Amino acid sequence: MSDKPTMRAMVLEQARHPLVLRDLPVPEPGPGQVQLKIHTCAVCRTDLHVVDGELPDPKLPLIIGHQIVGHVSRVGEGVTRFSVGQRVGVPWLGWTDGVCSYCLAGQENLCIHARFTGYTLDGGYAEFTVADERYCVPIPEIYSDVEAAPLLCAGLIGYRSLVKTGEAKRLGIYGFGGAASIISQVAVHQGRSVYAFTRPGDTEGQQFARELGSTWAGGSDQRPPEELDAAIIFAPVGALVPAALAAIRTGGIVVCGGIHMSDIPSFSYDLLWGERSVCSVANLTRKDAAEFMEIAPKVPVRTTTRTFPLEQANEALNTLRSGKLEGSAVLVTTSGAF
Ligand SMILES: [Zn+2]
Ligand SMILES: [Zn+2]
Repeated sequence: MSDKPTMRAMVLEQARHPLVLRDLPVPEPGPGQVQLKIHTCAVCRTDLHVVDGELPDPKLPLIIGHQIVGHVSRVGEGVTRFSVGQRVGVPWLGWTDGVCSYCLAGQENLCIHARFTGYTLDGGYAEFTVADERYCVPIPEIYSDVEAAPLLCAGLIGYRSLVKTGEAKRLGIYGFGGAASIISQVAVHQGRSVYAFTRPGDTEGQQFARELGSTWAGGSDQRPPEELDAAIIFAPVGALVPAALAAIRTGGIVVCGGIHMSDIPSFSYDLLWGERSVCSVANLTRKDAAEFMEIAPKVPVRTTTRTFPLEQANEALNTLRSGKLEGSAVLVTTSGAF
């Protein structure tokens, strides 16, 4: 018999199966790691892709979730950045080697040995986790634990996507979920005009986009009233790539902000001609996180959330899958969350 402390966790034991509630030993922080008592963890579309087996080779069994907010409950050897009691966020990028050509070139998001929270490392659908302190993010004080959680991926990846659009003034956003709702506020704050594209007929989603400051909102099958300078696609729908290319001006860019997308249908070279470009956003860097957490409280970015108890993680995932979610689902793990 062991009297080691245990925690509740929602565990992925096999892809394409629901998560199962398990009692697991509380993880102990190794050198350079902090142990966090988790308060909230937001649900990301990437979590769905992992559960649905659309991303290769996850750690199994796995605790998914990479938008974690908690308080430091213990520190491992050599930890200097954080101390017990501090509130900390854990994002998707969990570890890099620091020595590959990408890391050395300031592109640690592309590190060939990168490890990812809630994918190749255990994440936040649990009561405790451990994380390398170097990749943790302090949480701005103005946010509650629930409000802050979606900033950690929807916010960070959204921000990286936004930066890739450069100085675009007229910005299209396809797929108006968590990331779009956050990043459209930043874009409007920066003086850009946002054109929001939802699923055709989703008038509630379009209304939501207008409430957050979008200049125009319509279905993804519609053409915007003006030619766009750039577009970001958050929906995992490859057919939106040619649609977005058709909506942007020459020299414009289409940024694909998701980790997974259905196949892109073939399209006429005319859509790409005129120095239009298409790129993806992969992961994030610590610099992205620091910049975004600086900007978010200045806007101030407000997140729209719907909370679920940890044990209802499968329901939260299904709600996201159904598309019937404005903003982000957030799992609440402890009664300490507010
Ligand atoms: Zn590297
Ligand atoms: Zn994510």
